[in-house]
Amino acid sequence: MIEILKEKISSDILENELLANHCTFRIGGPAKYFFVAKSGEEIKRAVEVAKELDLPFFIFSGGSNILFADQGFNGLVIKIQNANYEIQDTKIITEAGVALGRLVEAVADRGLTGLEWAAGIPGTIGGAVRGNAGAYGHDIGESVETARIMNHELRIMNIGKNECKFRYRDSIFKQSKDIILEVVLILEEGDKEKIKDEMKKILKARNEKLPLDFPSAGSVFKNVKVTDEILEKLKNCEIPSKFIELGKIPVAWLVEQCNLKGKQTGGAKISEKHANFIVNIGKATAKEVAELIELVKAEISQKFGVKLEEEIELVLGQ
Ligand SMILES: Cc1cc2nc3c(=O)[nH]c(=O)nc-3n(C[C@H](O)[C@H](O)[C@H](O)COP(=O)(O)OP(=O)(O)OC[C@H]3O[C@@H](n4cnc5c(N)ncnc54)[C@H](O)[C@@H]3O)c2cc1C
Repeated sequence: MIEILKEKISSDILENELLANHCTFRIGGPAKYFFVAKSGEEIKRAVEVAKELDLPFFIFSGGSNILFADQGFNGLVIKIQNANYEIQDTKIITEAGVALGRLVEAVADRGLTGLEWAAGIPGTIGGAVRGNAGAYGHDIGESVETARIMNHELRIMNIGKNECKFRYRDSIFKQSKDIILEVVLILEEGDKEKIKDEMKKILKARNEKLPLDFPSAGSVFKNVKVTDEILEKLKNCEIPSKFIELGKIPVAWLVEQCNLKGKQTGGAKISEKHANFIVNIGKATAKEVAELIELVKAEISQKFGVKLEEEIELVLGQ
């Protein structure tokens, strides 16, 4: 098979590449075949060949929102790394594999405002658009004008912001599994110094709040939307009023109410600094992380009757 893949896709296909080396959690077994796609054409070719050969495939990019299985992936893993962008006045045309942090710096240098909130968020534009990444009351969906995507029939097309169906940490791409190739963002002219100051403040706040000393995949669960039903379920708790104002109950707070902060399974631990983070404190396995995820879900369901939804993507070994 490797020879066929090398011939049909690229001689750069790797075999038994450890996925732990390609994600921020530093967890995950080997991908049977691994390919870094550096252009839209390479992404299309790799997917086309995998489909043609009936080979299971999985695409990812920055690896900062993902838990790879301990047994790895018995198929072709495609890492999206098309990484060109162009700034035309307030319009940014960016390939999906561009690192979000690189773009945030570049637009700030041009005095463009609208992405300051994203300072410090790892991963790529494609990953951010797929999960509608956000922080401090903003999300990437606000700035998206169009996305160039490839659907499951390998048709490439441009779709508008409305069709992306952005919601809280959600977009159409989570269901459609379409691959984002390129994105057009619209920002606004701003004051470069103010933009940089704001980014500094955000980076400082993130450093204080998040457990950045250990590998993780960011927040494990989506925060819980405040609804009448949720308020009824939490009626015996003293919910801080700011949560109600913001319309979200932080999962970190629910985890704290269950006294799960610091809970450890092997090398995986619920962070003491931010209870919606599971950190890899040394040689954690995906199984250990999954056990903690199940524990948190079970305890919160039992104590509050609240069903949590994962924000991170769990990649099952094939
Ligand atoms: C320390 C830390 C802090 C974080 N803070 C935040 C935060 O403040 N806010 C926030 O929203 N997130 C945060 N995250 C999570 C993560 O950084 C974001 O979700 C990021 O946008 C994921 O991008 P990625 O390229 O790493 O995606 P990956 O992890 O590579 O992939 C995640 C999912 O997206 C899919 N995907 C990736 N690229 C594409 C593409 N081009 N087309 C279609 N699907 C694709 C993959 O198949 C996978 O299902 C944090 C993570 C860490 C480790």
